[in-house]
Amino acid sequence: MIRVNNLNKSFGNLQVLKDINLTVKEREVVVLVGASGSGKSTLLRCLNFLELKNSGHIIIDGERIEQNTHDLNTIRKKIGMVFQHFNLFPHMTVLQNIIEAPTHVKRKSKQQAVSEGKVLLGKVGLGDKLHVYPSTLSGGQQQRVAIARALAMNPKVMLFDEPTSALDPELVGEVLGTIKELAKEGMTMVIVTHEMGFAREVADWVIYMHEGRIVEAGTPKEVFDYPQELRTQAFLSSVL
Ligand code: ATP
Ligand code: MG
Repeated sequence: MIRVNNLNKSFGNLQVLKDINLTVKEREVVVLVGASGSGKSTLLRCLNFLELKNSGHIIIDGERIEQNTHDLNTIRKKIGMVFQHFNLFPHMTVLQNIIEAPTHVKRKSKQQAVSEGKVLLGKVGLGDKLHVYPSTLSGGQQQRVAIARALAMNPKVMLFDEPTSALDPELVGEVLGTIKELAKEGMTMVIVTHEMGFAREVADWVIYMHEGRIVEAGTPKEVFDYPQELRTQAFLSSVL
């Protein structure tokens, strides 16, 4: 579904991603972990072409995507992204937030977008909040709206960048629960998270990044229980 070959990305003189190689197969869940500044967000943003690579190749759904020849908006429609801060449109109700992109970007009829939107909001447990404004919702509810909003575009892949980091601890579980449901349904996902218990449960592969490189990758058991690299061991002992 996604393949990354020898990806490099710099901001000015700072090389943030160094020779990244990564494969995410259909229905797989890949969790990225690593210290602050190791390049996790930049890697996700490159996958979605919110940041443009300096070199290397990104292959999505069998097609090598080049930033100067492809319509990146078309690519982005295939790849949903959920951020730490939910970025809902504050002046729109929950349902309006959900149908905005399907009606304006995908040109779906309003009727169809509304009926699909209601199903999605039901799925994330917010079927009774269709007509309220985001500011009246808890952080966990807002983040679930953001997830439903991304799903409304029928993405082939979902990217999550620390989706629970901005939440009060008691609200983390409901959002992780929603993501776990997606995993069960076979959604292909790349997730940056510091929630190691969740990572262990949901990930097919865990990737540990350090200073812009993938230092170690394996199953959750391999990486969490038998880390091979000293840097991985040091990182895990600081977070577990
Ligand atoms: P965190 O866990 O804190 O979110 P991260 O692993 O997501 O960290 P990135 O946000 O990818 O790390 O940042 C990697 C490096 O790139 C950092 O040194 C950061 O300062 C730098 N960086 C990120 N975005 C930009 C930008 N737009 N311009 C310049 N430097 C940037
Ligand atoms: Mg980040």
